Amino acid sequence: MDLEFAQVSDCGKVRDHNEDCIGHARGQGWLFVLADGVGGQDHGEIASRVAVDAVVAGFERASPGAPYSVLLPRLVQQANTKVFEVGLGTSMATTLVACALRYDRAVVAHVGDSRCYRIRHGHAEALTRDHTVAAEHVRLGILSAAAAAEAETRHVLSRSLGSCLVAGVETREHRVIPGDLLLLCSDGLHGALDSAEIAEAAMSRADLDESAHALVDLANRRDGSDNISVQLIRIRTVERVGMYRGRPYKLA
Ligand code: MG
Repeated sequence: MDLEFAQVSDCGKVRDHNEDCIGHARGQGWLFVLADGVGGQDHGEIASRVAVDAVVAGFERASPGAPYSVLLPRLVQQANTKVFEVGLGTSMATTLVACALRYDRAVVAHVGDSRCYRIRHGHAEALTRDHTVAAEHVRLGILSAAAAAEAETRHVLSRSLGSCLVAGVETREHRVIPGDLLLLCSDGLHGALDSAEIAEAAMSRADLDESAHALVDLANRRDGSDNISVQLIRIRTVERVGMYRGRPYKLA
């Protein structure tokens, strides 16, 4: 797989420190990871940094053959243990979304309300579902999507990393094709912009770095009350593979 990427983490217009954290690594494939820390004092900053560092370090150490659909949730669980131990006795926690890319697949694992979108043919589709109280209520049929968009509980996490001994990691695998854009972001971005605006801004410039900054600038103009982080990945080429007994083989 060949790809290019750009990333920005911005403090926003109101907050005096940035509790978001982003990281990436290259092994047999690629890893992108983004976390949005919560907790008083500087706990949020520590939580997101510890989580991102743990996932990146685990990815770099992983054996080359490890399938990402198995590896990634394991790395997120290990990051959970790290944050849990560092934050013991505090309210330290973080969201996390991670995307590992190899062949023609994207494995996305997440906890909390940081998101991954796939932008294809001008349309942005969320590959993650928020782990918030409001979103869980929509899934249970208690709230309408419209009511949830206004509900106080839309910012209350139903799952997070570091708050319990075991994290409720959600992992999915998706096919990607050349030209796809993958976008990881914190709620500072997706809380300020809808998916159509995200798709438009992400595709607004030929230069990926300029597009990433355009996204952050637009979110700051609309809101800016939270930290805003974006990782934007453009898939250039893929290797088509099939899987046989968990091992990949090349398709013509
Ligand atoms: Mg946030």
